[in-house]
Amino acid sequence: MSHTNDTFEINQPDQYWKEKLTPEQYFVIREKGTERPFTGKFEDHFEPGVYTCAACGNELFTSDTKYHSGCGWPSFYDALDKTKIYEKIDRSHGMVRMEIMCAKCGGHLGHVFNDGPADKTGLRYCVNSLSLDFKKDSTSKK
Ligand code: FE
Repeated sequence: MSHTNDTFEINQPDQYWKEKLTPEQYFVIREKGTERPFTGKFEDHFEPGVYTCAACGNELFTSDTKYHSGCGWPSFYDALDKTKIYEKIDRSHGMVRMEIMCAKCGGHLGHVFNDGPADKTGLRYCVNSLSLDFKKDSTSKK
C-alpha cells in the first residue's frame, strides 16, 4: 500500500481491518478504492451531525460544512479540524490529486479538490460514503 511509509496512531495489520470492516469498506478504506458515484448512503444526506471515520471513529467532518456538489460523493468544504485529515499527493490513474486519509488510522477517505464553494474555503473534500459513519447531533448549528 502506498502509505506504508506513513505512521499513524492506529497501526493495525491488514487482517485486523479485514475482520473489522465489510469487504466493500475494506476495498475503499484500506485498498484506496472508490465507490460508484451516486450510490453512497451519505451522498444525499443532510441531517445535522458529525461524520466519523468508519474504521476508527475519529470525528472528521460536520454537517455544517457539507454541501451538494453534484459530483456523486459526499462533499464538504472544510474538515472538522485540519489535524484530523492527512493529505498526500496521489499520482495514480494518470492524474495528480491530493488524497485525504483519516489522520488517526490512515484509512482512505477520498480526495480534496480546489473547486469547492468560492464563498467558503474553495475546497471540496470529496469523500466515499463507505469511509464514513454518522452521529446525529442536536447541538449542530444547522
Ligand atoms: Fe480512522
